[in-house]
Amino acid sequence: MDRPTIDHRGPEFARLSAEIFEGLGPVFGTQGPVIIFPSSGTGAWEAAIVNTLKPGDRVLMFETGHFATLWKKIAERLGLSVDFVAGDWRHGVDPAVVEAKLTEDRQGAVAAVMVVHNETSTGVASRIPQIRQAIDRARHGALFMVDTISSLASIEYRHAEWGVDVSVGCSQKGLMLPPGLGMNAVSDKALAVAKQGGMPRSYWDWEDMLKNNASGFFPYTPATNLLYGLREALAMLREEGLPAVFARHARHAEATRRAVRGWGLEILCAEPAEHSNVLTAVVMPQGHDADAFRAAVLARFDMSLGVGLAKLAGKVFRIGHVGALNDLTLMGTLAGVEMGLTIAGVPHRAGGTQEAMKFLCDSAQP
Ligand SMILES: *Cc1c(COP(=O)(O)O)cnc(C)c1O
Repeated sequence: MDRPTIDHRGPEFARLSAEIFEGLGPVFGTQGPVIIFPSSGTGAWEAAIVNTLKPGDRVLMFETGHFATLWKKIAERLGLSVDFVAGDWRHGVDPAVVEAKLTEDRQGAVAAVMVVHNETSTGVASRIPQIRQAIDRARHGALFMVDTISSLASIEYRHAEWGVDVSVGCSQKGLMLPPGLGMNAVSDKALAVAKQGGMPRSYWDWEDMLKNNASGFFPYTPATNLLYGLREALAMLREEGLPAVFARHARHAEATRRAVRGWGLEILCAEPAEHSNVLTAVVMPQGHDADAFRAAVLARFDMSLGVGLAKLAGKVFRIGHVGALNDLTLMGTLAGVEMGLTIAGVPHRAGGTQEAMKFLCDSAQP
């Protein structure tokens, strides 16, 4: 990315964007369009809404954690009427509740079901294919929108096969880039809805983007240097192969969970089928402050553990195992956590790190 910025109306740029669009579709699991905005993930959340929905529309959303709550706030600010199903921040979306809510809606008033795939605040991954099946069982025509921001390129994700209408992604999680690119993968159905509706929009308009993208360009200045990085990230994913990338994340996540159990600490995610392979949130023992522990680890080892967000503040810390990570980086991380627990005087059993190491050795490819 540390290269001169080229003319974004010139032939070299058109070749760059053609390569990117070709490589990005398979990562989302779609042959349809993926729209790239110069934005944070939050911008891509807003784009999904303003292109397809209008004030007063009813949508179904689920309180799986902090990020689902933020997306809901945006929906409300934009005038949507949100049915927000309460949750305990330890479980994903319950497909049975999706089915029941949509079956109840005989008028078809619910315009969209909006779900966060990997809830980064809790380390819980909702089961997207099962939620799709629930929508189908209710024979409901709502749009299905999924935030795949922290799952994309780390946990299996299939936009087309799973019948998702809008997938929201961004650059700084599993795509291993700095922040600054927001993405929408869009189904034909979502495009058709957007053509006739949505709400007033300009910067976030899909149609303008797609018209320009067709010849390799953007309606306004793209984040050119981040696109250089995206081209390389896509090449890295292709070289390793997506199935191998997913398996690596699953293996590192399992090693991390074994370490946490070895320490005698509790994993926040309460449902084994919903464990996130991207991060593990660890519950702090009663009477101990997760932020004091995190501060000790930062001071001693220069290692940043994830903060407990919103109502989890001080109660959990998060171990990230996303992106370009190998066995040794993970072991360094886990050793830092175990030494930090000792230094900060947090009650735990010694040896969780050994459990992880044993698992990594037993499951290593020859
Ligand atoms: C990081 C994240 C976001 C927010 O992205 P920003 O780039 O901070 O706007 C949204 N959803 C999930 C699941 C995330 O992990």
